[in-house]
Amino acid sequence: MIVMSDLRRSRRPEDSPEADVPSFGAIRGTRTHDHVRSRSGTNFYIISLTGLRIIDSKITCAVDNPIIWTNEVPRKVTGFAWRACMDRIFSAVALSLRGVSIPTSCNFCSNGLDSTDHILIGCSFATEVLQWTLKWCNIPWQTFDSVKDLVGFAANWGRCPKKRRILIAIVYDYLWFVWKARSDMVFNKRHTTPTNTADHIIIEVYNWVNFRGNFGRFIWSDSLCCPFKTM
Ligand SMILES: [Zn+2]
Repeated sequence: MIVMSDLRRSRRPEDSPEADVPSFGAIRGTRTHDHVRSRSGTNFYIISLTGLRIIDSKITCAVDNPIIWTNEVPRKVTGFAWRACMDRIFSAVALSLRGVSIPTSCNFCSNGLDSTDHILIGCSFATEVLQWTLKWCNIPWQTFDSVKDLVGFAANWGRCPKKRRILIAIVYDYLWFVWKARSDMVFNKRHTTPTNTADHIIIEVYNWVNFRGNFGRFIWSDSLCCPFKTM
């Protein structure tokens, strides 16, 4: 059962602890709070997470997920990518299908719907981030139809297992940061650029590969040119 109610705008969203909950990964970290606050125009809505999970548990679908769990990628990031492949993230379209009445147009471009595949693949913002990311990897640009299509590409890319694992980390981090940029815009009204988002991906993947993986030591200047340069 979804519990949703209007709240009068008595304080700025930045002042509320729930406003710091921009993504599903972060939502999972605040188990003591059973709700997330969303905003539509000047109104706030409280969405019960327990209610959403009950509905989620009733939705069954075949498990055909190309996600690969690796040590170098934090579980919250891989978990988010796993749910995105299953179209199980809290996009506006997903919430709308569960009975939450909120605007469903894309917050980046207004030309599409705030759905999983549009936010993370089809939107012009996501496309530009992915173009920068693939250019950094020296991988020729190509289009993808869905999140699962992109994740499947990384899971089968190239002949070197180590390079493939790094590309998998890059793709999962790409999904994470595009979702984070979208959530920052929706919940905190903070805007970022595709190039800034791509920069965050480069920095974070470098740290993961260097300090969480078993690939040996990577040199920052080399990784900045290409993540596979020292391999
Ligand atoms: Zn869009």
